[in-house]
Amino acid sequence: MKVHLIRSEGFKMEDYNHVFNILNQYSGGITFVPSEPIVLPDTDIEITYEDKDQYERQALYSPRGAFFEKRSFPITEKSYTEEELLSVCNKFRKENNISDSEQVLLLTEKKNVSNWFGGVDQTTLNNFFIDCSDWDYYFNGFDIRFPIAFSIAAWLMRKVIFTSAKEGFSALHKKPRGCIMDYCIDKKEIQLQMRTADICDACLSYSEKNDANRVHMNQLMQIMEGVRSNLLFRDRSKYLRTNSRLEFRGMMHKMYLTDLGDLQVNLNPTERALYLVYLNHPEGISRADLIDFRSELKKYYAFFSSKWDELSQFDREMKIHEAVDLLTNKLEQKLMQVLSRIRRKFIDTVGEDQSKTYSIESYDGKYKILLDRELVSFDEDAKLTDGNIY
Ligand SMILES: [Zn+2]
Repeated sequence: MKVHLIRSEGFKMEDYNHVFNILNQYSGGITFVPSEPIVLPDTDIEITYEDKDQYERQALYSPRGAFFEKRSFPITEKSYTEEELLSVCNKFRKENNISDSEQVLLLTEKKNVSNWFGGVDQTTLNNFFIDCSDWDYYFNGFDIRFPIAFSIAAWLMRKVIFTSAKEGFSALHKKPRGCIMDYCIDKKEIQLQMRTADICDACLSYSEKNDANRVHMNQLMQIMEGVRSNLLFRDRSKYLRTNSRLEFRGMMHKMYLTDLGDLQVNLNPTERALYLVYLNHPEGISRADLIDFRSELKKYYAFFSSKWDELSQFDREMKIHEAVDLLTNKLEQKLMQVLSRIRRKFIDTVGEDQSKTYSIESYDGKYKILLDRELVSFDEDAKLTDGNIY
């Protein structure tokens, strides 16, 4: 089954790519296909909320949460009908000659008038939209890309299990039981759904009756399970003060936080080289002393960096030499820039609170990574030719 994931241009590219990373960690016959951003057609509908109370009433939001602190009233938001959003999918389908057996799913930051988390074309069951805004309100401090990936999996699961919209409607649970068919009239109930990531017996019996595709179901279940384990790990780690394991994989030392649903941290070659040097030295390295670790830094840098591959060996070495010189020169700002980018990437990946354990932070005049080295591992392929320091 092919699923075209399209996005409206207001939905951040970075989040979109990250959702893909999460979805693509599992295989089982469903392929997710990316596409260029789409400019949504203009809409006539605008909803103005005079104050917080009105916004809440309209949106069924609870009165508490960081969500409101970030907004000042009155707010006017453009809003779309479900039909309008689904017609964006249909237009994309027509323009790209996509067959009826393939799915088109629109990720948008725009609100829909009924304020649903998402919706499906009830006739064809192959066009969907998902509201990607405000997830940070329901899951405070939680990476919003996980609930979005969950929603995608849940919509596809409903499609795989039920044969018609009518059948799906008849299965909805008004009283939440932590099943993907919970109605979530009170929108906060979505939290329960993702914490259990389950399909109840009543709903599973439909999959039996309809002879639903088990391989597809399994893949979608794994995505939902991944989100659930990430969510639970985060909740617990706050109290148990546990951190995720960090694994380096493959020749290029790609980085994965294994206990956080195998979340990838995308450091570029310079950042990764610097990170590994600091990882090798738990005692920390001051800005002035980094120059003593030049050869180690160069070794990683030369290994990861491919941008000068077409140069002669001599020229390539010169380039690498210059880059490392710049990074280790304490009079230059380069190091600070790279450190701040690394910090930003960890904040984006694990949230502000946890990021300080994984990123390179300053303590008593030295920069260091606090993460317990027992939690760090390298897979078979993550080895340099002359051996890892680890
Ligand atoms: Zn159910």
